[in-house]
Amino acid sequence: MSRANLDIPPNSLEAYWMPMTPNRRFKSAPEFFVEAKGMHYRTPDGRSVLDAIAGLWCVNAGHCHPKIIEAIRHQAGKLDYASSFSLGHPLAFHYTNRVMEIAPKGFDHIFLAGSGSEAVDTALKIALAYHRSRGEGHRQRLIGRQRSYHGMGFGGLSVSGIGWQRAQFGVMLPGVSHLPHTHDLTRNAFSKGEPEHGVDFADALEGILTAMDPSTVAAVIVEPVAGAGGVLPPPKGYLKRLREITSKHGILLIFDEVVTGFGRLGAPFAAQALGVTPDLITCAKGMSNGAVPMGGVLVHHQVHDAMSQGPETTVELAHGYTYSGHPLACAAALATLDVYQEEGIFEKAARIAGKWEAAIHDIRGAGGVIRDIRNLGLLGAVEIEPAPNAPGQRARAVANHCLENGVFVRALGDTLILSPPLIINEDQIGQIADSIKKGIRAL
Ligand code: PMP
Repeated sequence: MSRANLDIPPNSLEAYWMPMTPNRRFKSAPEFFVEAKGMHYRTPDGRSVLDAIAGLWCVNAGHCHPKIIEAIRHQAGKLDYASSFSLGHPLAFHYTNRVMEIAPKGFDHIFLAGSGSEAVDTALKIALAYHRSRGEGHRQRLIGRQRSYHGMGFGGLSVSGIGWQRAQFGVMLPGVSHLPHTHDLTRNAFSKGEPEHGVDFADALEGILTAMDPSTVAAVIVEPVAGAGGVLPPPKGYLKRLREITSKHGILLIFDEVVTGFGRLGAPFAAQALGVTPDLITCAKGMSNGAVPMGGVLVHHQVHDAMSQGPETTVELAHGYTYSGHPLACAAALATLDVYQEEGIFEKAARIAGKWEAAIHDIRGAGGVIRDIRNLGLLGAVEIEPAPNAPGQRARAVANHCLENGVFVRALGDTLILSPPLIINEDQIGQIADSIKKGIRAL
């Protein structure tokens, strides 16, 4: 691909220290997208690339939806910024009321933030503050899970369970333990949807709690489906068991729905799709269709009620961001919700999930290097046996092959991650599966 098409002068790739990127490798062979529409990106040399991961699990309604773009334009010319600290703008109230209409039963508030990481740190802080407000300030411990991803803030990173992302920094929050992850190739390889075996992984929580004093634990946080850890759907009964154990010990359960929120599993939230009600739900990504950064925490009324006692002048939560309830984010998110509802996008996702499952599992026929295939809703993963002494290399080669053939999938370690816009059709599902099969055969 020619750099000339990009309007970037020579040597000008240096200044941008790209996130989560081997910068030197990228800069020796850069790849760019310059435009996007619906299911597709466009490269500088005019090639169309099918987006099999919805940007970064976020563009659920497809790229550059005209209604969302128009709402952002309109809002930018009307009210570009107003703080939400002790004053308001109508759109933030209008939007949050609308979210409550699709929230799981019992949730009656949402706190707005600027990203998924901010949402997670907010949820952890709400959990700690909730216990204090009830005179249980000794509840300070947090429990995450191995292979979980909860963003890049110190709170989120502390409860996350992807070791290499923490190793560079050393210090993390004290008092954090981790549940075992639920990836079990012995019992569950090539499971369709929620794996049959593994409710016992939730029982490990009882083990962790017996090893400490359960009354010192504030919250357990899990992604209903672990995303960046490799798309790990919860074993049948697992989340329900976590709910039972946390409730028994007065511990809050937080679902990090930054990936699963806003339709990924065919319902507004995974809590509804999987029939388990947590106390707090974090969201971001699909909330604003990725068009403007945004995150949020849905709060169960029991948590909110406990924190709304005392004099009226009390700041209920000493927490907030300059961009909490940003007018452009609210405009984008409101238009996004309109699009989801008017176009029945969550329902469409639910309807096509069966075809998705069949196509993703059909990839297995492409060769013996495939170690596992997983799916739930419109999430999928194809795990590849690594070449000796070269972890990740095969998966990256398949992803590169797909990109050359016009399909954008993401290689995370040895796993190809799939999370397409929810507007995907059957042909496009077939195109993704075919291109992965070809990439695997070409290894
Ligand atoms: N939680 C989960 C489950 C995520 O997948 C992500 C992002 N991939 C985050 C939190 C962090 O979100 P952000 O990158 O918007 O800060």
